[in-house]
Amino acid sequence: MNALFSNLPTTIFEVMSLLARETGAINLGQGFPDGSGPEDIRRAAADAVLNGYNQYPPMMGLPELRTAVANHYRHWHGVDLDPVAEVMVTSGATEAIAGALFALIEPGDEVVLFQPLYDAYLPLVKRAGGVPRLVRLEPPHWRFTEEMLTAAFSPKTKVVVLNNPLNPTATVFGREDLELLSRYCQEFDAVAVCDEVWEHVVFDGREHIPMIALPGMRDRTVKIGSAGKIFSLTGWKVGFVCAAPPLMKSLSKAHQFLTFTTPPNLQAAVAYGLDKEDAFFEGMRQDLSRSRDRLASGLRSIGLPPLESQGTYFLNVDLAPLGLNVDDESFCKTLVHERGVALIPVSAFYAETPVTSVVRICFSKQDATLDAAIERLAGLV
Ligand code: GLN
Repeated sequence: MNALFSNLPTTIFEVMSLLARETGAINLGQGFPDGSGPEDIRRAAADAVLNGYNQYPPMMGLPELRTAVANHYRHWHGVDLDPVAEVMVTSGATEAIAGALFALIEPGDEVVLFQPLYDAYLPLVKRAGGVPRLVRLEPPHWRFTEEMLTAAFSPKTKVVVLNNPLNPTATVFGREDLELLSRYCQEFDAVAVCDEVWEHVVFDGREHIPMIALPGMRDRTVKIGSAGKIFSLTGWKVGFVCAAPPLMKSLSKAHQFLTFTTPPNLQAAVAYGLDKEDAFFEGMRQDLSRSRDRLASGLRSIGLPPLESQGTYFLNVDLAPLGLNVDDESFCKTLVHERGVALIPVSAFYAETPVTSVVRICFSKQDATLDAAIERLAGLV
């Protein structure tokens, strides 16, 4: 048996969601909305099921979805992509990340990653034979600096994995951050694998800047997106990858033996959704930022002020300045049993020297759910 995989812990999202189900707790852990999602897009999927989109679609994805992805990014980010040579559909962003790492890394290649990191990255990097070089980000700002990148990059660097906006910290890296990183990618001839699944979930007038749009990055970036996050339909697992043809050639080889293809009915519905007018996407941001503000003010009112959330579905609370002398993991375990609220300990996103005082709280929920959670959490400090 493969020791790496048999020794892995169960992902924290499953652990906390299972605990929430067993205890009947309000689940503000795993990031998913508790509404049903846009009705017209769900109806488009139902129609596609009834109208014959049920056999294997092309391995690279339905042509209408690949065209919709290219149009969407041209419209939103001014990025010009050839839907045939530069866009591929995957079964969720995690498959895209796995495929990119398997396709790009040779054993011994170094991979730069930022902690806190989404928990799928590291096992996949290691299984691909990559040697992780970790950049450690800290609250409250979670920014990387030139010194950190200088320490992490080397002539052996093959890939850097960037999640922007960053889950769990809710940080949106802007042009300056991205330019700094792109300088290192070019100097060390590295490919940026950019997990941009939260690209539409940015708040307060912020703009998501895709790494692939930066000067010098067009041919060395793998851009990964996800319909699950864009449309708040997280169980659909429809992702898309964009990359220049030489990169796409190897990515598609990995994809053909990972999942080969993705349910065509969902692909058709996502194609429909991506073509929606700007107001839809802006409305979604506004709804989510209202939920963020509702939970943030609830948390403040009970003495648990959150850190800034610039994007994603998440708010974080740093327990250290509150004088709560407890690590995040014990805090979350106790909370689920004693208060009936499930959260995620951010230390689970670190492989080394974890920050152990921060908990992640999902706000993509209905008002009543958020209010009930605040009621249950009152009186902790
Ligand atoms: N992306 C989701 C989160 O951060 C979790 C997805 C999963 O459960 N694997 O909560």
